[in-house]
Amino acid sequence: MSDVLSSKFDLSGKRVFVAGHRGMVGSALVRRLAKESVAEVLTETRANLDLLNQSSVDTWMLDNKPDVVLLAAAKVGGILANSTNPASFIYENLMIEANLIHAAWKVGVKKLVFLGSTCIYPKMAPQPIKEESLLTGPLEPTNEWYAIAKIAGIKLCQAYRKQHGSDFISVQPTNLYGPGDNYDLQASHVLPALIRKAYEAKAANAKELVVWGSGKPLREFLHVDDLADAVIFVTKNYSAAEPLNIATGEEVSIGDLARHVCKAVGFQGNLVFDSSKPDGTPRKLADCSNLHALGWNNARNLETGIAETFANALKTGELTTSMRLSA
Ligand code: GDP
Repeated sequence: MSDVLSSKFDLSGKRVFVAGHRGMVGSALVRRLAKESVAEVLTETRANLDLLNQSSVDTWMLDNKPDVVLLAAAKVGGILANSTNPASFIYENLMIEANLIHAAWKVGVKKLVFLGSTCIYPKMAPQPIKEESLLTGPLEPTNEWYAIAKIAGIKLCQAYRKQHGSDFISVQPTNLYGPGDNYDLQASHVLPALIRKAYEAKAANAKELVVWGSGKPLREFLHVDDLADAVIFVTKNYSAAEPLNIATGEEVSIGDLARHVCKAVGFQGNLVFDSSKPDGTPRKLADCSNLHALGWNNARNLETGIAETFANALKTGELTTSMRLSA
């Protein structure tokens, strides 16, 4: 990593476009960028910029000419949403990436950071998963559509770096949680789903809470504000073709995660494991040694992060609003 360590990029005075600023990751990036001395943080509404439409993206990029693009726009969803809408997940993600990366090159963007996911790695990759495991084996079938699109995004960054010398990098965050998460049980990831289930179970004085699958799969979880901090750090300090994992290095079983959530929410009933629901990949722990070698480490622990997220969701109405909408 020594040549990588010397790759300094100065963010100060730059015009930074956050693509996907209304999403969980994009909004965290906007919050984090407020602490930087950038010239301007550019964001755009869907009405003025349709990321699925190449000419809309080309025109917007020409008009605005950002120096830096943080590509956080994506169609995202949990295990159920991915398996039931494969076409939407592969098509929309491919279009967003291809349109933005190509336009970024055309207008001379100086740095682009593409946000991928650790689900790009093979289902049976040796754990903890190193970046070089990419494309060494079959993917987890429940999210392969999304994963294939994200792999294409990584390859686009590598191709533009190779052919045009563009400083386009890709980062692979682990499972995220925090403000702006999706609390709709049909589309959400496990952590917000469990927060909502525990909240509802407590309110209803229920005896039990249903956890999908066996509870045995292992996952790690990173608070989205910590991810945003890491992304800004790597924007300034990383420049290489290889994707870079961003994670905590600490794993938890889904069963224990459910126990942490129940504690934070104050639900004291029993957990019931519904084996008719899929477990997904058995273990997903990212190797963060490259990120640590660059000098970034995660500060917040999971229990604190869950308690903070629950308190924030209550305060902002995030939890109750999405419950009303999907009721
Ligand atoms: P994944 O990390 O891509 O597999 O996506 P998820 O976050 O959706 O699921 C992670 C694990 O949590 C899987 O084993 C799920 O079966 C399990 N899980 C347990 N309860 C729930 C739930 O209520 N919602 C979701 N989405 N997953 C759950």
